[in-house]
Amino acid sequence: MTVLLQNINNHNPDSENAPFYYTKALKSSCIVMCAYFVSQILFASIMGYTKEAMLVLIWLAGSVAAAFANNYLSQRWNLLFYSAIIVSWVIHFTIMYGWNCGGHNFILPLMVIALFYIHFSTAHKIFIIVLLFALRMFLYCYCRMQEPLYPLETVPYVIFQIINTLFFFFNIAYACMLFSTNIQKAEKELRITNQELQKQALTDPLTTLYNRRFMMDILEKQITEHPKDVFAIALGDIDLFKKVNDTLGHNFGDQVLRDLSQLFKEKIGDRGYVCRWGGEEFFFYFPNMNIDEAYEIIAGIHTAVGNTIIHYQEYSCSVTMTFGMEEYDYSSSLVDLIKNADDKLYFGKKQGRNRIVF
Ligand code: GH3
Ligand code: MG
Ligand code: MG
Repeated sequence: MTVLLQNINNHNPDSENAPFYYTKALKSSCIVMCAYFVSQILFASIMGYTKEAMLVLIWLAGSVAAAFANNYLSQRWNLLFYSAIIVSWVIHFTIMYGWNCGGHNFILPLMVIALFYIHFSTAHKIFIIVLLFALRMFLYCYCRMQEPLYPLETVPYVIFQIINTLFFFFNIAYACMLFSTNIQKAEKELRITNQELQKQALTDPLTTLYNRRFMMDILEKQITEHPKDVFAIALGDIDLFKKVNDTLGHNFGDQVLRDLSQLFKEKIGDRGYVCRWGGEEFFFYFPNMNIDEAYEIIAGIHTAVGNTIIHYQEYSCSVTMTFGMEEYDYSSSLVDLIKNADDKLYFGKKQGRNRIVF
């Protein structure tokens, strides 16, 4: 399949714009038409219509060429070639054997395939629909006014009808199945990509914690939707982190950020949220908790951070953190609330670090 795809892309002049499924649909339809014309030739020969069988050879040759040309021509030319075969056949067959033999049905698969051509605008598509409708109506009116050139007996008439129905049905069903499956596949891939992008936009790649944008979104939502609900926040900053980087290396520093982030997640569980606020600062949010309840969790985290030995390659060390905490007072803006927590954190640093200020 990959080799086939590469072959097609190598030869096709507009390959970068040519969806593979469309080339496949056109080619498959040409192959179905080849099989159809072979069945027509066989049946006409059996019935003794030798001249007619010879004539069908033209369309068979056209379909074989169209199937083959699929690898070499641009899709536009492929579609034109295919349309010429179908339209000329429908006109020929209907004039020869009349309306009731069902040759005109092949207009429908042609319409489906033409409408799925990606370079057609809506105006093009409407034009095609009108054109094919006009062709069908013309043939219908013609058949109402003119007798078929070769009126058939009941048996060949029924057999022609069956052959036409079978191939028309298979042709349209296969094209529809291919296009609809492709749309479903593309939609699914798009949904997964969107989810992935959304996740990436809201998480920090180093620590896999939420980022500041996500935290701001949920806090704004909290204050707007539940202005009367209590909640607590905390800003935590790793003490003297620059020194860790300078002495043990930036990679070690990264490992500290990853390990501590994991510890935060474990300690908080489903009781709150934590995000990487920036650099070596982390933001904690505890919905429906007052500052005393949130303090219990932050105190647990503070102790755990101090007791954690971080290992990276041959190095190991532990760090401490300073926290500033604040409780929502039902009137402060989010900006003021965060500023208060930040001021307390700054105060804690001034006081000698490794503490919780609330
Ligand atoms: P203080 O106790 O006052 O907070 O001191 P500090 O050294 O932690 O603070 P400072 O603001 O001087 O330094 C923060 C350092 O954090 C500097 C910066 O290189 C480091 N840092 C920020 N982001 C990253 C990161 O993603 N990875 C690593 N390894 N270091 C980071
Ligand atoms: Mg720091
Ligand atoms: Mg800092």
